[in-house]
Amino acid sequence: MQTRKALVIFSGGQDSTTCLLQAIADYGRENVQAISFHYGQRHAIELEKAKWIADDLGIEQTVIDTSVIKQTTNNALIDDAQEIKAAQDGDYPNTFVDGRNMLFLLLAGCHAKQQGISDIIIGVCETDFSGYPDCRDVFIKSMNVSMNLAMDYTFNLITPLMYLTKAQTWEMADKLGYLDYVQKHTHTCYYGVEGGCGKCPSCLLRNKGLQEYMAQDK
Ligand SMILES: [Zn+2]
Repeated sequence: MQTRKALVIFSGGQDSTTCLLQAIADYGRENVQAISFHYGQRHAIELEKAKWIADDLGIEQTVIDTSVIKQTTNNALIDDAQEIKAAQDGDYPNTFVDGRNMLFLLLAGCHAKQQGISDIIIGVCETDFSGYPDCRDVFIKSMNVSMNLAMDYTFNLITPLMYLTKAQTWEMADKLGYLDYVQKHTHTCYYGVEGGCGKCPSCLLRNKGLQEYMAQDK
């Protein structure tokens, strides 16, 4: 039997790090690779953390420059001058980057196919998510079909966190034996504050989930 390999879309945040750890448990370290994207994020700390974690876990990491995305979209995640705002009035939060996950999946697909990898893992979630349309299951399934048709290849897009709450994602890290590791080494803050600013929507979601999980009877 041929060994199955997986490519994990990896940002160095809580979600993708938990997906990477789960993939290592499922596929074996030597069968897992990570792919990260540089697109002019507000702070380089995200990518530094991703590189550190990939090195630490002994995972081969490919970094792709997708800064071209800045030429077509103006957004608070990329533009330092903009204040981060949560979703309001039925609108998307201003951290939403049009087409980001679509571009990431496409490039991950090209890279995976080159190496004969079918399984692509992405830590998107539609339960606790910030309201991004490209985190929804219907989009991922549609993209899977499009990629298969576009490249005449059988991709398998896997979303382990799709229906989990943040508390359940913390639980997943804990069951893998990496609760402290994820807490200590992952970066999620929109403002790029080491250890988290504790105030931005991303920090609030992460901390609330951790508190909920820690409060449970175990
Ligand atoms: Zn923050």
